Formats: sequence, structure tokens, C-alpha cells
Amino acid sequence: MTEQHAPRHDWTLAEIKEIHGLPLTELLLRAQTVHRENHPPDQVQLCTLLSVKTGGCREDCSYCSQSSKYDTDVQPERLLSVEEVLGTARRAREAGSTRFCMGAAWRDVKDGPAFDRVLDMVRGVRELGLEACATLGMLDDGQAHALAEAGLTAYNHNLDTSREYYGEVITTRTYDERLQTITRVVKAGISVCCGGILGMGESLDDRCELIRTLATLDPHPGSVPINALVPIEGTPLADVPKLDSLDLVRAIATARIVMPKTQVRLSAGRAELTREAQILCFMAGASSIFYGDKLLTTGNPDVLADRQLLEDAGMKPMQPYASPDPTVQATKSRGPVATKGAVSLAARAIVPAE
Ligand code: SF4
Repeated sequence: MTEQHAPRHDWTLAEIKEIHGLPLTELLLRAQTVHRENHPPDQVQLCTLLSVKTGGCREDCSYCSQSSKYDTDVQPERLLSVEEVLGTARRAREAGSTRFCMGAAWRDVKDGPAFDRVLDMVRGVRELGLEACATLGMLDDGQAHALAEAGLTAYNHNLDTSREYYGEVITTRTYDERLQTITRVVKAGISVCCGGILGMGESLDDRCELIRTLATLDPHPGSVPINALVPIEGTPLADVPKLDSLDLVRAIATARIVMPKTQVRLSAGRAELTREAQILCFMAGASSIFYGDKLLTTGNPDVLADRQLLEDAGMKPMQPYASPDPTVQATKSRGPVATKGAVSLAARAIVPAE
């Protein structure tokens, strides 16, 4: 890593558009330069995602298989038990994952036995030596603090798209409600994981405006998942044309340049990418992937294919708590202590890390 520049939080839409529109090779060079100033270029964070409460959600997100408003193949399921979740987390750790993300299809969190169970899941994941992440919908201040005390490392709450396009995708909650939950997560001392989805029919301005909104948050999100829409039959976005993989590369590179220390995560839609397109995303500054053959309800490349890809590219998994986000590092000393040997097991690399 070389000279580092202080992150900026005052980006304008014109600046973001200028970066996004650079000739692709120039954009990649700039993104890779920023990436090397702030991250080890040969390491990738491996995150495993599990749906702990699937389907039956009252929200109307137009891309989502779990909304009760749409007729999709997803059937509502009960909240998993702590044992079921920790069994999956243990297997993810054995496979080399270092962050375990638990998703519940809730509009917002309700205090009570279900939330208490999620808190136990968070404690159990931390005891396994894994970073713990959750995505549970909107939170109040007390719930954000309870999650922080349980040892939660990161909370995912995506903005999805620009403020201007948001109403075309979701009508049951507002952009400001999303931002309020993000503020509560920051105040509770939890790392923010916040990104969006490309390919929902939005304009270039919408994409750049989403990146601008993320890049003007202070602090920048610890992680920014960049998703390509996975069209789901039965949802309003089922027939939207497929995103060009180079659009994904451009968005990742732009996010990398304007949020230099953030983990930019190549997220949903990766199963549709060729190996070469995925390597281009790493060149553009993606430093994190979802690892495991399923996301919340949609597919992901299988673990063996991913291991081969990383090996062929000469890349290795990042250790837990190695993120440049100081909030992630601070959570290491909060919450349950990992059982003896758990952290080194979680850090086990497919290709050994020094
Ligand atoms: S994205 Fe989340 S909030 Fe929206 S419908 Fe799906 S589960 Fe519900």
C-alpha cells in the first residue's frame, strides 16, 4: 500500500458522473491505484449470507422474491432456531468465510422473543470467531444498541437506488426512513453496510446519484454492496433487460474511487458473470464477495468455483477484522469473546495468508 488520501464527503453529482464516464481503461487504472493505496490488492473478504426468516414481508420492493405482494416461488418460513443458524455459520467458517450475515424479511424489528433470538444468533456467531452482520429492516435506537451490545459487527440496510428513482421501486417506506436507520446504526457504533441494486430501469444519473449519496455519508459505509438485479418471476421487475457487466464494473470502480477505504462488495448477480468479468470487478476495486452457493433466496457461484477463481487469480481470503473501517475493528473487543482457536479457524485461508 502506498500514499493514502483523506476520504471526502462533499462529492457532487457532476464529479461522480465525470469519474463514471471516464474511458474504461482510465477508470480502471484510477480505481486500482486508489485500491492499492488503501487495501491489500490480493485479498478478498468472504461473507456468507443466510436467510434466517424467509418470505411473507409486507414491503413492496419491486425486485424482491420475499414480498407478500407478489406471487413468487418463495414460501414464507418460520424464524430459524439459534442452533440451525450456528450450524450454518460453523460450516461457513470451515469453508473459509469470515463474515456471517443474517437476513430476516421484516419491515422493521419488533421487540420480543424473535428479536431476542436474533440477538442470541449474533452472540453465537461472534463466539465462533466470525464477524456478525444482520439485515432486519428498520431499527429504533434501543434495538441498534441491543445489537451492538450483543457484538454485531455490521448492519446492512441498502438505499437501493437514487432518492429520485426510489418511489418507482418501493412505495411502502421512504428514503428518509432508510437514512434514519443508517444514522441509528452509526450512533450505536455498528459498521454500516449500505449499497444498491443496478439494472432496475434506473438512469445513469440515478446510478451516479446513489453513489454520490453513499459517498457523502460521514463516515462512509464500512461496506457497499453493489448488486446487479436478479430478475424474479412474479415481481414487477421480472422482465427488465439484463445489466451489462461493464456497467457493474464502472459502478464498482466509481465507488472505489470516491469511498477509498470502504469494502466494495461484488454482490447479487455475480452468478451471471464470467470469470473474466469477476476479475475485472476485482481490478475495479471490489474487495469483498458473498461466498456460499445461495444468497437470501437467489443463487450464487458455488464454493468450489470460487476457490478455483481465487486460486487462479492469485488472491486469498482476508482475515476477520482486517477491514480498514475502524468501527469493524472496534467491534472485535465488544460482545462475546471468541472461543479459543475460533478466530484463527475463521481466518483459515484457502491459499494461506501471511
Ligand atoms: S427487500 Fe427486504 S424489505 Fe423489501 S420486500 Fe424484500 S424482504 Fe421485505
